[in-house]
Amino acid sequence: MPAPPAAKSSPKPGKPAAQASAKAPAKSPMVRAMEKLGLRRDIDLALHLPLRYEDETRITPLARARDGTTVQIKATVVSSDVSFRPRRQLLVVVRDGEETCTLRFFNFYPSMHKLMAVGHTIRARGEVRGGFLGWTMVHPSVSAAGAPLPNALTPVYPTSAGLPQAYLRKAVAGALERVDLTETVAPELLPRTHDGQPMWTLRAALQFLHHPRPDVSLDTLEDHSHPAWQRLKAEELLAQQLSQLESRRARDRLRAPALRAPEGGLHDRLLATLPFVLTDAQARVCREIAADLGQPVPMHRLLQGDVGSGKTVVAALAAAICIDGGYQCALMAPTEILAEQHFRKLIGWLEPLGITTAWLTGSQKAKERRDMLALIASGEAALVIGTHAVIQDKVVFDRLALAIIDEQHRFGVAQRLALRGKMRPQGAARDGHGHGHGHGDGNGDTQEPHLLMMSATPIPRTLAMGYYADLDVSTIDSLPPGRTPIVTKLVNEARRDEVVARIRDQLAQGRQVYWVCPLIEESEALDLANATETHAALGAALADAGGEPIEIGLLHSRMPVAEKKAVMDRFISGRMGVLVSTTVIEVGVDVPNASLMVVEHAERFGLSQLHQLRGRVGRGAAASACVLMYSTGDAPRLGETARARLKAMAETADGFEIARRDLEIRGPGEFLGARQSGAALLRFADLATDAALLEWARDAAPRLLDRHPELARQHVARWLGGKAEFLKA
Ligand code: ADP
Ligand code: MG
Repeated sequence: MPAPPAAKSSPKPGKPAAQASAKAPAKSPMVRAMEKLGLRRDIDLALHLPLRYEDETRITPLARARDGTTVQIKATVVSSDVSFRPRRQLLVVVRDGEETCTLRFFNFYPSMHKLMAVGHTIRARGEVRGGFLGWTMVHPSVSAAGAPLPNALTPVYPTSAGLPQAYLRKAVAGALERVDLTETVAPELLPRTHDGQPMWTLRAALQFLHHPRPDVSLDTLEDHSHPAWQRLKAEELLAQQLSQLESRRARDRLRAPALRAPEGGLHDRLLATLPFVLTDAQARVCREIAADLGQPVPMHRLLQGDVGSGKTVVAALAAAICIDGGYQCALMAPTEILAEQHFRKLIGWLEPLGITTAWLTGSQKAKERRDMLALIASGEAALVIGTHAVIQDKVVFDRLALAIIDEQHRFGVAQRLALRGKMRPQGAARDGHGHGHGHGDGNGDTQEPHLLMMSATPIPRTLAMGYYADLDVSTIDSLPPGRTPIVTKLVNEARRDEVVARIRDQLAQGRQVYWVCPLIEESEALDLANATETHAALGAALADAGGEPIEIGLLHSRMPVAEKKAVMDRFISGRMGVLVSTTVIEVGVDVPNASLMVVEHAERFGLSQLHQLRGRVGRGAAASACVLMYSTGDAPRLGETARARLKAMAETADGFEIARRDLEIRGPGEFLGARQSGAALLRFADLATDAALLEWARDAAPRLLDRHPELARQHVARWLGGKAEFLKA
């Protein structure tokens, strides 16, 4: 690239040259505004792609302009006046041939008067309106007609207040000239575009996307199918896959205890005492997990299975293998109530076999906690169960070899990272990842625990590949036998009485009922009021029936934990007929006698959430139903997405199908939630539509890393900068 002419960079005559100063120059407000948008390095600016484009490359004669379209005209100023009615404004009338147009400005500066002086020819770009008094344009962008027309579309960038387009355009253009865009993907590894053409180079793609030729099909830019977009998406996906592959390899260099269940040990005894036989799917995932545990490398496995598919017993068997090996196992759930509900069964299976369990929760009394910590530190407790409390600093394990996280999607990325760090044995050098040790044989005795994560929100394949390439996945794809399918009904809120009648009917048969109120996120107080009101109304409605009084409980997220537990216990024991609750019962609760679930304001819930809720019933042999009560509020009917969700619920009970539809309705970013996705890690690619590119990236990543490790490193640095660490969560 030729150096810019010297004259340009030398200070203007008359102005003193800037003093060379020892201090770093203060950042201008513009630079700070750019940093806020994450625009620090030249590459950041180069990857800051336009939202849309403006066509300033052509002139439309006014005579051919169509009402309501955006055009650029070239015309001569015939008058320029400041008017004060109805408010202060600059009115400039311009003429193009026979036609005139009034340009209206409510904010204006002296420079504009100069530019639009009578007799000057100008270009004005904006939306034209034809009216009674001729054409008008409000606040067009105006330039002198003398300058040459640009030959590319003008980019309009995402920006923030205080950062003008013009400034950003210059900054991006400058960055594009300076930035190093050497290819990091070896040409033989590049895919073809979908019409079989070779991929564009990164440089060509970026230059094009910032300044496309005016004849480009705007559709292909908008839907990101243009070859230039293809290249960017491929690059981004590759960076993501590379980073995950690297962390996977780093993990494979670590050591973990190789655990094998001896014949006749705890594992075998547990299997023999279970009140049921494992399903084929459960047996298969158990084998997958056992094989991982038998390796001297830490397991990193996600166990996914629909609600009620029987993940707990799989966790118990894994724990048994660990304990058989003489090690400790930690089990974590996102909330206290879940930790208790969820693992009650598991403890019920293991304690009779002589296993000592320690509990760790946030609400524990100091004394109890001290005792538990001692049990854990001495190694006497083979099984440690609790909430996040399990990963707090004070907890020191004697010999932790397996950590199991239930409902892992409810833990944030940061928490999962913390857990990774925590899992390393205390006192051991925390040097596992990367630097220093080369290929791990220097790690000596440092051992890491195995990690098993469980989730009832099945992740569609592309998402699993995209976000969890660093994970092995086991899937329980069938339910235990003997379940009666749940009937799902959509009922308008106007028919509430019928719903109450149905509840009465179930209670008369000795069954139990859940009634779920929506969590009102903006206002916990409102939320509580709502649940309390429903609780009272339901009590009144059911009391009318006469007969034996029915116990109706209320469970709310703001209740103290002990109170929550007491309510849950009464419901589990069967003494309580109806449980009114906010979504705190969403996951994990297992009451087989509950046969009816009513969800109030079902239109406010997400699809996976509804599916999870529905999974609370149909856990026994009784025929079960889920009533989704919706309200259209003041609107004549439900909004489109709410309707799509409820329709999906009524049509299918299969968690994987639900997840697929959820992804379709919400898109992957929202599907995973910002927490889960580490704040939208993918800017360009879309896992729902770019499956083919994702496949390519997954395949290309190991080849690039093996054949050209330095290029791979550059690629990740270019794309992820400081974000690479997040991808490892
Ligand atoms: P989830 O996968 O949602 O955690 P659970 O582990 O809570 O499911 O299991 C749901 C119910 O199914 C529990 O009551 C459990 O004891 C029971 N269950 C699990 N596996 C089997 C099986 N193979 N046969 C019969 N019942 C089973
Ligand atoms: Mg569970």
